[in-house]
Amino acid sequence: MTTIIENTTTKIIENDKLINLDYQIPKINENFAIGKALIDHITLIDHEECEAGDEDSFFVCDLNQIKKNVEIWKNHLPRIQPHYAIKCNTNIEVINLLYKLGVNFDCASKNEIDTILNLGFESSKIVYANPCKTNSFIRHAKINNVNLTTVDNVDELYKLAKFHSNCKILIRIMTDDEDAQCRLSTKFGCDLNVAIEQILPIAQNLGLNVVGVAFHVGSGAKDFKSIYKAIRDSRILFDAAKKFDFNMNILDIGGGFEFETFLESSKMVNDSIDEFFASTDVKLIAEPGRFFVANAFTLATHIIAKRSLPKNEDNINSMIYINDGVYGNMNCILFDHQKPLAFVLKNKDGYHYMERELKTISYSIWGPTCDGLDCVSSKSFLNYKVEVGDWLYFPNLGAYTSCATTQFNGFKNDTKILYV
Ligand SMILES: *Cc1c(COP(=O)(O)O)cnc(C)c1O
Repeated sequence: MTTIIENTTTKIIENDKLINLDYQIPKINENFAIGKALIDHITLIDHEECEAGDEDSFFVCDLNQIKKNVEIWKNHLPRIQPHYAIKCNTNIEVINLLYKLGVNFDCASKNEIDTILNLGFESSKIVYANPCKTNSFIRHAKINNVNLTTVDNVDELYKLAKFHSNCKILIRIMTDDEDAQCRLSTKFGCDLNVAIEQILPIAQNLGLNVVGVAFHVGSGAKDFKSIYKAIRDSRILFDAAKKFDFNMNILDIGGGFEFETFLESSKMVNDSIDEFFASTDVKLIAEPGRFFVANAFTLATHIIAKRSLPKNEDNINSMIYINDGVYGNMNCILFDHQKPLAFVLKNKDGYHYMERELKTISYSIWGPTCDGLDCVSSKSFLNYKVEVGDWLYFPNLGAYTSCATTQFNGFKNDTKILYV
């Protein structure tokens, strides 16, 4: 079995006391190739003379890590065909690579469908996994032979009957996602009673083609019982569907998988499938997003300003301002509850990629806009002292980052990506 998690004793300093924390931290994807790309790029920048924007933040994308992630998926969940949720990161290199590796796609809008079709990929590789679709998008799906979608309400059935009546339908059920950091069942998914008492009979009356069940347990869960419950509920719905002459044969277990917890979550999936879907020839699919891409992207940012602080209760040495933030590539802090980890790439003593000195100096880190909400971290310990002109890097920023940037306050959102 592949070991993907490292047990590390992490030392942090809090209120000037050294505390040993015995907990698991994700193995951060740092390798020589990423470091070389980061350093090569910033050494080219002459900060005294460069054009405005030359010192913008930039990504390094490690395509090999995406390959590894797909391999890990195939090793641990060999029965489950992944459909990458492209909203997570619509980078074309990434999508092309995933296609080559045999991954299919989860699209939620007309544009996302077109992204896949314009690359020349088959429409049969798409699940249109949005249970609340615009009418014109449903017609667009029909014209383009996108024939698998999700539904969680009766009105959606009438829309499909009218605009795409032979589309295959997965009933999206609600999950118990209270424990998840990004909850989805507050917005999507019907409960089992609604599925059985309303959706199945009406779909039957309308002559629609219900072929299975879908769910999403939310993202950032620590306890994977929600997966077990959702697969158990799916079984109940598969059995109930027979009474309405639907012979369900697709189970879509959604997304929410994270690299750091994949051993546990994939085990829960396998055990639950063995318990509830062992003897059936049901096609199993999933919609992972972040799992494939999060650890493949590292962001480098430039320190543009600094404000030293007098001695304070929080022991923050100074405030540093960088040229990316929550209105840019770190919108994931607001939208996806992520907490990006900062490391020093370069300071006056040179380059420090992959150097792990004891982190001793605390900073608050701020984005470049004029909004007080644009805070990257209210307290980060850095391993070295930094000044204006130095560079930081943030590993693990491939998911829900570049795809949701804004141009607020006149900052551009066309971050350069270097591939290794
Ligand atoms: C966002 C989303 C996903 C992907 O979620 P991850 O947490 O990135 O794995 C999958 N399916 C649906 C329906 C989604 O909305």
